[in-house]
Formats: sequence, C-alpha cells, structure tokens
Amino acid sequence: MPRIACAGVGNELQVCLRKADGFFFHAVRRVDGSWDGFNDASIVSNSGDVAQITCAGVGNELHVCVQKNNGAFFHAIRQADGSWNGFNDGSVIPNSNNIADLTCAGVGNELHVCVRKNNGAFFHAIRQADGSWNGFNDGSVIPNSGGNRLVACTAVHGELHVCLLKNNGAFFHAIRQADGSWNGFNDGSVIPNSNNIADLTCAGVGNELHVCVRKNNGAFFHAIRQADGSWNGFNDGSVIPNSDNIGSCAAGGVGNELHVCVRKNNEAFFHAIRQADGNWNGFNDGFFTLAHFTFDGGITGAQRNMLLERHRFALSRIVGCGNLTDTERQSLTQAYQRAIVHGIETRPNVNASAIVGGNQLWVNFGVLFPQGQVEIAQTLIHEMMHCAGFSHPTRRNPPAGMSCAAPNPAIFDCPFDNGQYYGTPPLRAELCIAGNQSDMLLRVQEKADEDHCIIDEEGVASIHRG
Ligand SMILES: [Zn+2]
Repeated sequence: MPRIACAGVGNELQVCLRKADGFFFHAVRRVDGSWDGFNDASIVSNSGDVAQITCAGVGNELHVCVQKNNGAFFHAIRQADGSWNGFNDGSVIPNSNNIADLTCAGVGNELHVCVRKNNGAFFHAIRQADGSWNGFNDGSVIPNSGGNRLVACTAVHGELHVCLLKNNGAFFHAIRQADGSWNGFNDGSVIPNSNNIADLTCAGVGNELHVCVRKNNGAFFHAIRQADGSWNGFNDGSVIPNSDNIGSCAAGGVGNELHVCVRKNNEAFFHAIRQADGNWNGFNDGFFTLAHFTFDGGITGAQRNMLLERHRFALSRIVGCGNLTDTERQSLTQAYQRAIVHGIETRPNVNASAIVGGNQLWVNFGVLFPQGQVEIAQTLIHEMMHCAGFSHPTRRNPPAGMSCAAPNPAIFDCPFDNGQYYGTPPLRAELCIAGNQSDMLLRVQEKADEDHCIIDEEGVASIHRG
C-alpha cells in the first residue's frame, strides 16, 4: 500500500504523498535543488479519501494513480503548466476493482499501470496517448505472476520492468517488451541478498533498472540490474547516510541520477540522490518540504499553505544568517525536522504562541496574517526558536523620562542593544528574515512599539500585539 511516490518529469523530481488525513499532496524538486513543497492538495479536484498512491512521468506530464478508500481506482494528470485535471476518470477503466497494490510507469507516450489484486494475481493496464484505457485484463498471460505481495514498475529503455515480491518474501522481476510480450517472473533466485524485503520501489536510470527496498528491520538497500541483465544485489544499505528507520520508499530517475524519497517511521519525509558515479548524498534534505508538519482541522487549506510557505522561507534564511551562531542555526534546523503541531491561538492581542522546548505552535490568524508576509515569517522563526529550546526574559520598557532614543541596556531594552532581551536567540533570529539593513532597522524599531514576547510560568511564549 504505497503512501509515497515520486517520478522524474523533465529535469524535475515530482513527489506525491498521501497525508495521514487521506489527502493527496504533491511537491516539486527543481533542478537547482529547491523544493516548492506540499501545498496543492486543495486545488486538485477529488483528491481526498486516498488509500494509496503511485505516479509516473509521461512526456512532460505527471500522471498520478490512486486507490480510494472505497477501493475505486482513479487517475489524474498534472500538465506541464502546473494545472491539474483531477481524479475524475476511475470508473471508466475496465476491471479496476479489488486492487491491493498499485504502481505505474511512463513508457514512451503511454502510462502503464501494474496492480496486485486482492487474490494475489498480477494485472497490467495501459492508458494510450489518446486517453483511452485497455483495462486490467492481461494478468493471466504472464508466467509466474501469481501469489505476489508487493509490486513496483518502471520504464527502462522503452521496456516496462516489473518487480514483484512473492508471498514467501522472494524477489522477482519481469520485462514487458516493446512488442507487448512478457518474459515472466523467473529470475528472483539469482539476485544476491534479495530476502527479508518489506517494501519495494524501482526506477529506470539510463539503461539500468534501480531497485530500492526496505528490509524487515527498516534498513534501506539498493540493487542495480545492468543493461546486460546482470544484477549487483542488495548490498549497499549500510553505506548510505541516514538510511535507517524507513517506513516506506519511492524512487524516480531524473537525468542520470536516482532520486529516492522515503517516509521515516516518524512520518517525516526525506530525500536522497544517488549520483551517476554511485555516490549517495544521504537522506538529509527532504525535511525542507515540511511535509511532516501537522495542522489543526480548523485551519483552512489557504492558511496552512501560507504557514508552510512562510516556514520554508524562514528555513531557507537560516543557513546564511549571520545573526545566529552555528550552534543556534543547528538547533533551529533540528527543530524544523520535528513534526511541529499547529493549532489556533484565540487570545485577541496575541500573534502566536509556542511552548519553550515543545513541538506545538499556535497562530492567531485574524491578528497575525493581516500584518503581512515579513511579520508572519518573523513570528514563526521566533516561535520556532522557542521550540528549539531558546528563551528570553520579559522585556523591560523605558521608565518615565527615558526612551530608546537614548538606550540604556542596564535599565531597559531597546532593539539592537544586544542586551538581555534583544540579544537573545529568538529576537536575533527575527533579524534573519527582514530585508536589507535599512529596511530592517525601520521594521524592528516599528515592531518594538507593537510587539513583545512574554513567557509564562508554564513555558508558553506568547508574542503580544499592542
Ligand atoms: Zn519569545
């Protein structure tokens, strides 16, 4: 039951996720390494109630196949311009019921879909370039295709390659030639270390088939089938950084690289690249999408998307921010790797709040959002610094007769005085957001008149407005 899928489309990696609430989300990793993140579920029609998901690139389109919770099969296309046609066509596909596992691949200008039915039988369907489907009718013609448990497929050099896991845990592989003939699932026993597989995905990279598996102990392994049909076996798991605790995995070929997306057992999303030279960069960057952040049901799709976009902006500012030390930057980045729970703040004079050292953050949408994008990002990064465990004392306002026109850090707190309030990590982190130096100066001084953060006895840090 795949809940994550990815595919190369042109020079981009596109990722599809089923969130815990059953909604479909999609992200793009651009060729420069930046991510646009999982924001678009609400614009794709009929994208709820998803049980499992798979996707493939066909030309410059992304095709997504899902099985709904009621067992029905649906398919959607994301056009090259980013528009979606929605999951509307399931009922037109013959024999698309009783599906247990689902996978798909683009072969030429066709979409090929492979499924395991509830009775363990393997079936395959083709969506022609003209949009017509031939249905899941050919299972019985493929040698040795019964009694399987998990299935994955991909295109390699114009052929459809299918990987199967049998009920006994053995790994098998078949090829559908360009002329439509199948060679059958006959080669499993020849592949070294192909036992104890719990989850399976594969991708074509150049003339090679790359297979990624999660073993029963959560370890990640990878094998290559060379163009000459020889296999190198599942031997390299231990060489890939951060490849433990895998919950499910998906792979896609982008140019001459293999991209692997995984959900860890804690639901966090991670991504790794195997370069053409065989080196792995490890599962270190996927959390940039913040797909692991969760949101109260009362938060609208538009509010959630704005929060995610502003969080990601804040995250993108951390690396180059000279206002934080290496240790502070590291702590904040680690806080962003945790599954932060977002709730709704209702106190009328509070922008947002968070627990110092906690994993929860509350936003007052009616108060914070009208203040604009910079203010939202500053508030979020300040509260994330509290989640990272940083604190500060209550701000001391100037006594009568004194003002920040003549700062005196021994007596009261003023912006840029590097004193006991403005010198703390949460306040310095806000400076990572604001634009150039003169904009920032003005903004911080104005903001000092409006905002101050108070941490109560329970460790709840609330940014008060007015
Ligand atoms: Zn604070």
